[in-house]
Amino acid sequence: MKGRTFEVREFTLHDGPGVRTTVFLKGCPLRCAWCQNPEGLSFEHETMTRSDGGRIACGCDWTPEDLAEELARNADIMEQSGGGVTFSGGEPLAQPDFLLALIPLLKAKGIGLAIETSGYAPHETYKSVVSRLDFVYQDLKHHDAEAFRKWCGGDLSVVMRNVEWLKSSGVEHAFRVPCIPGVNDGEADRRAFRSIAGDDRVEFLPYNPAAGAKYPMLGREFPLRSLLPS
Ligand code: SF4
Repeated sequence: MKGRTFEVREFTLHDGPGVRTTVFLKGCPLRCAWCQNPEGLSFEHETMTRSDGGRIACGCDWTPEDLAEELARNADIMEQSGGGVTFSGGEPLAQPDFLLALIPLLKAKGIGLAIETSGYAPHETYKSVVSRLDFVYQDLKHHDAEAFRKWCGGDLSVVMRNVEWLKSSGVEHAFRVPCIPGVNDGEADRRAFRSIAGDDRVEFLPYNPAAGAKYPMLGREFPLRSLLPS
């Protein structure tokens, strides 16, 4: 069995405690209009072409054993800093069998594990992966079902079922809201997100104006540009 990544980034500092390696798994069932990793959407191998003509291969296939070995190269630094590995994407929960095979290999090496997820996964999948991890960054992209369908292309109830379970799971977690101008960044939106989170931590992340930079490299247009009112 193999899993597919589009990047393994070492020494990341914003994806959990301490020094971390972030594993970006390829493929996502959602299509958020503001997604800044378009090369993580498709499950297929792709190539990005830079403006200078240089080509970047997006897609690397790993056995769980090979990836565990690669990640363990920094195990000492991770341990000393209280860091570890963070699964991101794409949507990491879209490759659950691979994660379920990889997680025990990393745990056996004493590596702490976190995930950044949209929560857009079948409930049994969500529970079985998340309950094996040390920390969860759970995205809250929208609080309104119609808006979630429009902006992210999915059914909000799938996420909410997982969010409700997470809140009482005992797994350490924080909610993250990507604040998108005119989409989910009003005061009423903030109140709605806080109400979903209850007493749990919510981080409101500022919109990155460079979010669409990689689309031209894949020959695509940044969807948010045409969807936002001018
Ligand atoms: S869930 Fe994440 S990876 Fe998937 S489309 Fe949305 S922002 Fe992009």
